[in-house]
Amino acid sequence: MSRLLLIGAPGAGKGTQAERLSQAFGIPAISTGDIFRYNVKHETPLGQLAKSYMDKGEYVPDSVTNDLVRDRLGMDDAQAGFLLDGYPRTADQVLELDSILSAAGQQLDVVVLLEADTDEVVRRLLNRAQEQGRADDTEEVIRHRLNVYAEQTAPLISVYSERSLVVAVDGLGEVAEVTGRILEALDARGITAN
Ligand code: AMP
Repeated sequence: MSRLLLIGAPGAGKGTQAERLSQAFGIPAISTGDIFRYNVKHETPLGQLAKSYMDKGEYVPDSVTNDLVRDRLGMDDAQAGFLLDGYPRTADQVLELDSILSAAGQQLDVVVLLEADTDEVVRRLLNRAQEQGRADDTEEVIRHRLNVYAEQTAPLISVYSERSLVVAVDGLGEVAEVTGRILEALDARGITAN
């Protein structure tokens, strides 16, 4: 049973690695960004609200995001473990996750910090913009998203470091190579894939 968080700048490769780790551990990868994009695509009320923030590279308000994660973590498939990708992203979300988990008698096992330098993430995001045409992957919005990450999310790393939960992994290189590094780092902490 594993409860993992994946944290890192936009473009560090969280989504790609989350899918691979989810398979390796047999636990659902829960990406708030993906859930918002699904709702945007299907034009739900949540999607309409989220879009107005996402298009500008702003965070969706905590109250909205927290409710969504609370519901998702309450689902059956998340009881035996999960991998959260892109949540928590603010101090308030950390508190919310703490409260969700403690109410369920659960706790986090590890926080994987995927590291990548700024030039590399900008290059990757611009590349993704061309391939996938995401509305929030224009150069101006990318810059803003990186600033928002630095201001609101990067400080969470020390919060989790103080709890001795953080494992930092170099996110540069081939996808499979990075997955290998993560699995090795987790294994060293006694967290082993099935
Ligand atoms: P991502 O795919 O994780 O980069 O998320 C894309 C966008 O969705 C972000 O730029 C935010 O606008 C929104 N989003 C995703 N996760 C969160 C979160 N935990 N809190 C607030 N906004 C989020």
